[in-house]
Amino acid sequence: MSIESVLIIGGGLSGFTTAKELRERGFAGMLSIIDPEGMPYDRPPLSKDYLAGSKDATGIALAPASWYEENHVTIVTGTVAALDPDAGTATLKDGRVLAADRLVLATGGKARRLSIPGGDLPGVLELRTKNDADRLRSLLAPGVRLAIVGAGLIGAETASSARGFGAEVTLVDPVEIPLVPVIGEVLATRLHAMHAEHQVRTVTGIPEEITHDARGYRLALSTGETIEADVVLVGIGITAATELAEAAGLDTDNGVLVDERGATSHPRVFAVGDSARTRLADGTLLRRAEHWEHAMNAGSSAAAAILEQDLPVHGASWFWSDRHGVHVEGVGSMHGEGEHIVRMLDGVPIAAFRLDEAGLMLGAAAIDGGLTVRAARRIIDRLIKVDALALADPATPLKKLAR
Ligand SMILES: Cc1cc2nc3c(=O)[nH]c(=O)nc-3n(C[C@H](O)[C@H](O)[C@H](O)COP(=O)(O)OP(=O)(O)OC[C@H]3O[C@@H](n4cnc5c(N)ncnc54)[C@H](O)[C@@H]3O)c2cc1C
Repeated sequence: MSIESVLIIGGGLSGFTTAKELRERGFAGMLSIIDPEGMPYDRPPLSKDYLAGSKDATGIALAPASWYEENHVTIVTGTVAALDPDAGTATLKDGRVLAADRLVLATGGKARRLSIPGGDLPGVLELRTKNDADRLRSLLAPGVRLAIVGAGLIGAETASSARGFGAEVTLVDPVEIPLVPVIGEVLATRLHAMHAEHQVRTVTGIPEEITHDARGYRLALSTGETIEADVVLVGIGITAATELAEAAGLDTDNGVLVDERGATSHPRVFAVGDSARTRLADGTLLRRAEHWEHAMNAGSSAAAAILEQDLPVHGASWFWSDRHGVHVEGVGSMHGEGEHIVRMLDGVPIAAFRLDEAGLMLGAAAIDGGLTVRAARRIIDRLIKVDALALADPATPLKKLAR
C-alpha cells in the first residue's frame, strides 16, 4: 500500500525528527504534527539557557515557522484523546477526528510526581515544558529558598541555573552520590562535590511529607530533618506517556513496545522517543532511553521504516548535561561489571571508561571532554580493543586509540 498521509502525535524532538526525516527521504504525502503546545521546541534548554534567560522561545524552536510552510508540515494544536489503529484515526479532546495511513506516537513522558502526602500540592513544581520553566523562572530571585527533590541530571542542572538568580538552593536525593550508574563513581563524586563549591546545599534523605503554610513549604525527610523552602521542584524522572497506546490495545511495558524500526504491535502505528521501548526480535526488552539523541535517532529510524527504506545506523547511546560551568558527556553504559578505568589530570578525574573482560569498551564518560567521548564512541562502535594503561594516561589522546 502506498503511504499518502502520516499523522504524528507529539511535537517533541522525536515527533519533529520523524516529520523532518520523512520529507528529507522524499515523502510527498500529507504530514501533520499534533501537540497541545503547538510549534515544536527543544527541551534540554529548559533547565539550562532557557531557564537562565539567555535563550528565548525563538531560540529553542526546533525549526522556524517558515520551515513548516516550506515543507508542508501542518501543526495541529490539540491533544489526542483516543486512537483507532484499525481505522487510522486520532480523536482530539475537542472532538476533531484526523485520519492517516500511518500514525506515529511521539508522546514523550510525564514528570513523575512524589507519591507522598503533599506531593500533589499545586505549588510543588516540575520541569518538563516551556510553561514549567517560565513558572519556575518567575519565582527565582536572590534569597529565594528553592528545594529540589532529585539530584539527577535535571535536578542538578536546575540547581546550577537557579544559583545564577541568587536563589538559596537545597538539593535532596536518597543516594549520597547520584548518577553513579550513569557516569561511574569517580566522576559522579567530582560532579556532586561541585554543588557545595557553588553554594548548593546537598542533603541525603527521602522526602516523606510536604506541607505548606504562610511561611512556605516544609519537606519532612526520612532522616528527621525538615527543609524549609519558598519553592519546591521535583525532578525524579518521568513515566512514559503510554495511555493512548494502552487504550488502543497496543503492547506496552513501561513504554510503547516497538521493534528496531519503531513499529508497534499494530502495523499502522509507530512509536518513537521517550515514550517508546524497544523489544528485540528475540524478546529482549531494552531499557527505555530518555535522551535527546535517542529521540532524534528513533525519529529518523521510524521515518525510514514508514517509507520502507534501509534503516540508518546509529552509534552507541550518547547524552550530555551541563552544570556549574562544566559540560558532561557519556556514551554506552557505565553501569555494571567490568574493569572501570579513571583518567586523571593534575589529580582531578576527567574521564572514566568501562571495559569488558576482552578489553572491549562498554561505556565512557568525561567532564569537559567532548573529543574523548567522541573517540570513545568510535572505539565502542568499531569494537576496537584498547589498553587500560593507555586509557588511564591523560597524555594519550583517545583519538589515537580509536584508529
Ligand atoms: C528540562 C530537560 C532537560 C533535558 N536535558 C537533556 C540533556 O541535557 N541531554 C539529553 O540528552 N537529554 C535531555 N533531556 C531529555 C530530552 O529532552 C528528551 O529525551 C526528549 O525531549 C524526548 O523527546 P520526545 O519527542 O520523545 O518527547 P517530548 O520532548 O516529551 O515530547 C513529547 C510531546 O508529546 C506531546 N503529547 C503528549 N501527549 C500527547 C497527546 N495525547 N496528544 C498530542 N500531543 C501529546 C507533549 O505535549 C510533548 O510536546 C532533557 C529533558 C528535559 C525535560
